[in-house]
Amino acid sequence: MKRFDLDYYITGLKSQNNVVLAQAITLVESKRKTDQEIADQLLNEIVKGSQPSIRIGITGTPGVGKSSFIEGFGSYLIDQGKKVAVLAIDPSSQKTGGSILGDKTRMETLSRNPQAYIRPSASGNTLGGVNNRTREAVLLCEAAGYDAIIVETVGVGQSETLVNNMVDFFLLMIQPGSGDDLQGIKKGIMEMAHGIVINKADGDQAKLAKQSKKDLLSALHLFAPSETGWSTQVELCSALEKTGFDLVWQMVQSFQSAMRSNSLFEKNRSSQNVSWFEDRANFGILQELVDQPKLSALQQELVLKVRQNEISVSKATEEMLSAVKELLT
Ligand code: GDP
Repeated sequence: MKRFDLDYYITGLKSQNNVVLAQAITLVESKRKTDQEIADQLLNEIVKGSQPSIRIGITGTPGVGKSSFIEGFGSYLIDQGKKVAVLAIDPSSQKTGGSILGDKTRMETLSRNPQAYIRPSASGNTLGGVNNRTREAVLLCEAAGYDAIIVETVGVGQSETLVNNMVDFFLLMIQPGSGDDLQGIKKGIMEMAHGIVINKADGDQAKLAKQSKKDLLSALHLFAPSETGWSTQVELCSALEKTGFDLVWQMVQSFQSAMRSNSLFEKNRSSQNVSWFEDRANFGILQELVDQPKLSALQQELVLKVRQNEISVSKATEEMLSAVKELLT
């Protein structure tokens, strides 16, 4: 990795240079201490200066049509005057070393568009954990002039919650299916979603898609209304035939104006920031403590005793905590 000074990144981002944007994201992902120092300065510089943006999260099982949709929808947004950045959180890349979202060719047209920036799955990041750097990547994209940020994830594990905590609008993508299929969607994700889009509403499946929409709407009806007063909307689209993009965009826009009208949009972003800070700070504090030689020695000793049933878990914890308190006084 080539290394540059802070000014290089700041100037490059201001001039909306995609090469510098990619380098800046690599910088924040780096685990080297010197890189991290520059990254921290950079993020501190850009935090105040970005223009308004909309952050959209998209989740759905593999094969549902996410990348086809983003390819078409991204181009649609560019036609509406937006600059579109696509970031991916890919839970599979960690285990396999490869990445199912990381394949740029999946969004070939969009990736060639100068108004688009596509970042394949972040490398070397722990999924979901506080070490994930997607939030920073979002901020860097915004600093480089991108005002529509799409964060894509495969609906596996905790990645939806992670994405939901970093976007304004969370979109669940499903395929036309029977009512039974719909019951397979985790309730938690349905509740989290601000919008549900039924993709592949074309050809033979068009009719089924309409029925799915009805089924979904009546299922959603049973949920308690959300605190924000927004109720989840359902739209049909076909990424293949490029239909329904306008409906999805309208849905995002009406959400945005509803949230802005009572300041919930900004409030949501601030509380996301606060919990991001708390997570990072707590993690950092823990790390500092664990790195203390005295504590780590004690912990190892206690692990051994716990393993051999020489001490109860609660007693061991208590000993550990009194050692921490002693160290801090
Ligand atoms: P992803 O894994 O969710 O990103 O899904 P892909 O975008 O890779 O699409 C999976 C498959 O579904 C591909 O074969 C696509 O051609 C197909 N597909 C995607 N969108 C549509 C659509 O709107 N209609 C139809 N009929 N097929 C689609």
